[in-house]
Amino acid sequence: MEDVHKWQRQHIKVHDQSKEGFPLNVIIDPAMREMYQHVHAQGLTNVFDRFEQQEKIRCNFCAQGLSCQLCANGPCRINAKVPRGNCGVDAHVMVARNFVYRHVTIGTAANIFHAQQAARTLKAAAENPNSGLKIRDTNKLLKYAEMAGLNSHEDVNKVAVNFANFIMEDMGRPYWEESKLVQAFAPPKRQELWRKLKLYPGGGFSEVATAQTKCMTNLNADPIDFLLTSVRLGVANEYQGLFALDTLQEILMGTQRIRTAKQNMGLLKKDMVNIITNGHMPLTAHVVVELASTPEWKEKASKAGASGIQILGHVCEGQQLLNYEDTGKMSAYGGQEGEWLSEEYLLATGAVDLFMFDYNCTIPTLPLYAKRFGTTMVSTHEVIRMPGTEVVEFKPEEMRKQAEQILDMAIAAYAKRKAENREVYIPPHVSDCMIGFSTESVKEALGGSWKPLIDAIVEGKIRGIATIVGCTTARYGQGGSNIFRIAKGLIEKDILILSGGCTSSVMEYTGLADPKAAEECGPGLKAVCKALGIPPVLSYGACVDIGKMTQTAKEIADTLDVDTNMLPIVIGAPEYLEQKAVADACTAIALGWLVHVAPVPSVTGSDVVVKTLTETTETLGLGKLTVEVSADKTVQLYVDHIEKKRKELGI
Ligand code: SF4
Ligand code: SF4
Repeated sequence: MEDVHKWQRQHIKVHDQSKEGFPLNVIIDPAMREMYQHVHAQGLTNVFDRFEQQEKIRCNFCAQGLSCQLCANGPCRINAKVPRGNCGVDAHVMVARNFVYRHVTIGTAANIFHAQQAARTLKAAAENPNSGLKIRDTNKLLKYAEMAGLNSHEDVNKVAVNFANFIMEDMGRPYWEESKLVQAFAPPKRQELWRKLKLYPGGGFSEVATAQTKCMTNLNADPIDFLLTSVRLGVANEYQGLFALDTLQEILMGTQRIRTAKQNMGLLKKDMVNIITNGHMPLTAHVVVELASTPEWKEKASKAGASGIQILGHVCEGQQLLNYEDTGKMSAYGGQEGEWLSEEYLLATGAVDLFMFDYNCTIPTLPLYAKRFGTTMVSTHEVIRMPGTEVVEFKPEEMRKQAEQILDMAIAAYAKRKAENREVYIPPHVSDCMIGFSTESVKEALGGSWKPLIDAIVEGKIRGIATIVGCTTARYGQGGSNIFRIAKGLIEKDILILSGGCTSSVMEYTGLADPKAAEECGPGLKAVCKALGIPPVLSYGACVDIGKMTQTAKEIADTLDVDTNMLPIVIGAPEYLEQKAVADACTAIALGWLVHVAPVPSVTGSDVVVKTLTETTETLGLGKLTVEVSADKTVQLYVDHIEKKRKELGI
């Protein structure tokens, strides 16, 4: 085992996760740890130091969901002595309404928006085959077009246009017409339940608009209705958001293939043109990587005095690029950097010539860092703008031209860095990992059928599956360390992990996504990992790749001929951060799964809301939420749930 991985394992044993010693007691990414100290010593604003500042002025009403700023009679806050807002709303409605309005609608809208951009890009690629992205996985396109009820025997480009239109039309459907994507791709038993419970969504954009309408002052005042609306949005979030965008992007960039790769800041090279691509929609970025891999652009970089040009992914954008089959074959692809917490520290290396960003999570202080450390920042989508940064409009019909523009800017930025002889410090940390896991690639590794995995579960070698997904947070006890502690605890209990999002970066820099981590598992999982040559944590990529995990679960459930809620599976977001994560939790509840989250979400101000989300939904055949911040208790909670599900399945 690498020394750094030994240190990480010792560190989480020795140090408690309290506020004393924060943030170094939670930062276990060796590169981020070094760069945090460097940035902190210079007195620069940065994410961990800002957490401590905010912690001192945090509002307890907001933390419980008991504050409202919806109308001009507010802001209102509720406590035992003042039990209603000015309009008369009580704690239960206020908390439930905040939950839908501030979290679930935004998250659902964002995922569907992303899928819309991917559909638009597929259409552009089919109509203008030389414009940039191309159709790489024709089989997938034809298979899913057929499942959607489209004619898959036409010219491929025509099928692609029809498939893209089918998806975009479904998003735009009114809420009172059933979604065709849900009809075509959701598990049939779940569809029956959603119909019965009135959770069957129509078009996603209309669903979001309807939910937001309900949130208006003096409109809906039923907390249960708000919560069920959230679950309904969760269904739209999955099939018109996550599942749709995952499918579309794999058609365009190549379905995942299992391979080995490298991660962390040590991949930056002082004498190369370094481009970081950040966000969640690696559409333009993929064309940039492809173009930069050609002799023409290598030559241009060399004329500027560089030894080469490379594109490295960051956050979820990078996790997707890391996994797509074709990126791995392109010589200018440099690997994965890290999680969102490390963005400021990454720019502080002084080695990033160009930082392109298309969506969340690009943090607002980056222009300050870019100015100080000489990085050119380029927005590649109109949905994200930052003052003082360059803009290349997202036009899927002109991606090749746009990629050329970006590469020109990057080379110019490198030439400037070189001419000014600017200081660069690159922390020398790189981790090996195995990546590229998805429904198709896992099934292929199992010999083309789910039977070997199901047999291993039935025999008890693998007790069950946990998805550890989503973000990392800059909070006490978190910062990636909570994810690491939980993941280690689970594999020791023979629970296989699927990761997605910034959690994947944590798995990569801690060595848990390396086949060598098989040695750290319980005996059953260890034997399975060794036999297949895989790690105990299978990285499915980004947070948006949760759509692939639900597809894997659906196929396993179909093979067993059971509903998805019967599976021995837990969905975990041990450091959830933002609105998409909450929408994703609602998806998992809709599919019947136990969803663990930490930190504590802002719903504790209402016992009705807490009881509904943590108990009642399960009695309806849905899943439920559970909250636990202690890593050790979390592991036990997953084990107990998985054992309960095994018993129900009779295994
Ligand atoms: S909607 Fe009601 S609770 Fe909210 S700010 Fe207005 S009066 Fe206050
Ligand atoms: S996992 Fe969360 S924090 Fe990380 S990039 Fe995705 S949305 Fe952002």
